[in-house]
Amino acid sequence: TEQSDANANTPKLSNLSTDGKAWFIHPVAMVDYFNVTEKKTETWDSVTNSRITLLHPRIRQNAVDFINDVEEQFGIQLRVTTGLRTIDEQNRLYEQGRTISGNIVTWVRGGYSYHNYGLAIDVIEIKDKKVNWEENVLIRISSVGIRNGFSWGGNWKKQKDYPHFEITFGYKASELLEKYNKGELDNEGYIIFD
Ligand SMILES: [Zn+2]
Repeated sequence: TEQSDANANTPKLSNLSTDGKAWFIHPVAMVDYFNVTEKKTETWDSVTNSRITLLHPRIRQNAVDFINDVEEQFGIQLRVTTGLRTIDEQNRLYEQGRTISGNIVTWVRGGYSYHNYGLAIDVIEIKDKKVNWEENVLIRISSVGIRNGFSWGGNWKKQKDYPHFEITFGYKASELLEKYNKGELDNEGYIIFD
């Protein structure tokens, strides 16, 4: 009939042969089915990209995926404002608002922040080339960070830190400091995990 001829000319994404023995899956459908699409290695933002390259090698792709997923799902463009912060930098920052002028911006001394090991990022929305400080945005996108392996500072019981996301690999910061002091570092200075 005319109807079946029309069907025969329609490309199908998948088909089972009439004897039921062989599958045909269109290559385009196969890419989705096996999720073999290559992950992007960069985000929309060059500032973010250069900060991500200084993170611990084990979390760089998580960070890229997090930023890209948020853009894809919500149309929200995040920037990484802080990634790696050395122990010396952390100590200087700790003095701010204590022995030197300025607002207190950190609660911990050098070695006790996951930023010191390149295992944490702070993010903020950039909208119309300006920073959007609304906490609502960070609450909205937090689940995407969590899905990409991060713990979120907004879930902390005390001193919630909405822009902050970290991957701890099950280590306390004090345990990382111990590894650091023992020199369990790769040749770029990142902690070696077992
Ligand atoms: Zn942070």
